[in-house]
Amino acid sequence: MKTLRVNMDRLEAKWESVLPEYERLGGRALIAKILLTEVPPQCEPLGPNNKLIFAPGLLGGTSLSSSGRLSIGGKSPLTGGVKEANCGGNGSSDLARLGVKALVVEGQPADEKLYQLCISGTGVELLPADEWRGLGTYATAAKAQERWGADCTVISIGQAGEFLMSAAGVVCTGHGEQNSRVAARGGLGALMGSKGLKAVVLNSSGADALPLADPELFRVSARRFAKELVESPKTGRKGAMHTYGTSAIVAAVNEMGAFPTRNFSEGSFETAENLYGQRLREITLERGGKVGTTCMAGCVIACCNVFVDENGKPVVSTLQYETIGLLGSNLGIGTLDEIAHLNRLCNDFGLDSIEAGASLGVAAEAGLARFGDKDSFVSLLEEITEGSVLGRVLGQGAAVTGRVLGVSRVPVAKGQAMPAYDPRALKGNGVTYAASPMGADHTAGNAFGARREVNPLGTEGQRELSLKLQLGAAMLDSTGLCLFARPPVYGDSQLMVDLINGRFGWGWSVADLEEFKKTVLKMELGFNEKAGLTLADARMPEYMTREPLPPHDTVFDVPEAELDAVFSAL
Ligand code: SF4
Repeated sequence: MKTLRVNMDRLEAKWESVLPEYERLGGRALIAKILLTEVPPQCEPLGPNNKLIFAPGLLGGTSLSSSGRLSIGGKSPLTGGVKEANCGGNGSSDLARLGVKALVVEGQPADEKLYQLCISGTGVELLPADEWRGLGTYATAAKAQERWGADCTVISIGQAGEFLMSAAGVVCTGHGEQNSRVAARGGLGALMGSKGLKAVVLNSSGADALPLADPELFRVSARRFAKELVESPKTGRKGAMHTYGTSAIVAAVNEMGAFPTRNFSEGSFETAENLYGQRLREITLERGGKVGTTCMAGCVIACCNVFVDENGKPVVSTLQYETIGLLGSNLGIGTLDEIAHLNRLCNDFGLDSIEAGASLGVAAEAGLARFGDKDSFVSLLEEITEGSVLGRVLGQGAAVTGRVLGVSRVPVAKGQAMPAYDPRALKGNGVTYAASPMGADHTAGNAFGARREVNPLGTEGQRELSLKLQLGAAMLDSTGLCLFARPPVYGDSQLMVDLINGRFGWGWSVADLEEFKKTVLKMELGFNEKAGLTLADARMPEYMTREPLPPHDTVFDVPEAELDAVFSAL
């Protein structure tokens, strides 16, 4: 595999051999290493010295179930630190099969125009795309597929990325109707916009299968991995993930009092039942939509849905838990139809639904919209896409919105909005939000699944739990495995080692894998330190430490000394 470097100053692309120090890294790990090696940590995130990196995980492009998450990264315009966000869809598999270990986009075009980068088996082309300026991601994907073929994968930004908004994500087309898989967090859509890149188009048709160092070891391990997923009560065909998708957890999070409600002022929502996974399934099937579909070819879990309106017309694929929380209960909105409408707008504008939902919640608290009134939030989202002054404030995320509007209840850590678990009722997540190099990010180490292991309302054991989960997430994000496919490898590190050895023949041991996970976090922490982030940034918003959260009336009270010590065992 090679590194593909695209220089936007000179508008040229060139292939390079992979540097030896990058060879045994992939996905999130490779992004951290490239940032540490090539990007000045103090650089302006939207300036010419930052780099936008696309990297398949180590196992991307293989036949292994659920291994096609595409990592996208750079210095975050939102947190000012390291950022990797990953998405499902076909991008990772296409890039890997086209022989791209990392796509590194550098510089900025002098003419401030927009471009499309097309990579296929026949070559690489960087072409004008200024006629796509102002288009949402759905229209951009349609234009690109009209030009390059319906089977192409399109990775694009919407208006939010063009306006360099810190709430902008990068949107990737996926398998079947899964046309909006978003690498949402950290403002990477703004970074892509700052490079003048409207879209990356991938066509891997005819590409050869990737070589395997030990085909038998890989095949046996991949088969065992898939079998365990299929037989698991969580991820198998009768499991909640396949049956209800991520919305399966709405009921449990609401019952534990951690479901963000009306700008994180309460932890349970009075009409949450209307948002349960069972309800989503019923509505979807009644109307002729789909459940149990996949975002990438070959995933045996198949957690996705195609949510349709009353006439059976697709609205959004997939309607997910975090979006239901941030654009639903957090805005006092209690119907899936209304949430799906807001979700579609976010996907089309290329907005992170978590950051956008948090901004809108803060705006409602400031009196600019009314909790429970969807149309008032649609108006604010339209301000974002029009690029009005108010829209540009909202599009910079919840922290900026709070400062401009004079709101002190702003649910952020390291400048990034919290996902749909209030950390006062799930304190392990609070530790992850505060300490993780990624800022408030549920995928960096989510304690929800460990709620029976460590009391979510207590302070004991949260630091150790968070570190364990952060190490696990670093491994998944670096290999390209979906977070939902973790059960087989969390319980059996040797299985992950066998998969890596089967693919590459590196002769890794479990100890090597453990060291690899630590190295990822150390690189990220190292970059953040050089970028100027300190332990003082590893904190919860002050109001969460003194404002009790109903119904348990708990505050976030994990001691600061514990937050400071999260990585002491690395
Ligand atoms: S479990 Fe769901 S999100 Fe993960 S790879 Fe499979 S279909 Fe995609």
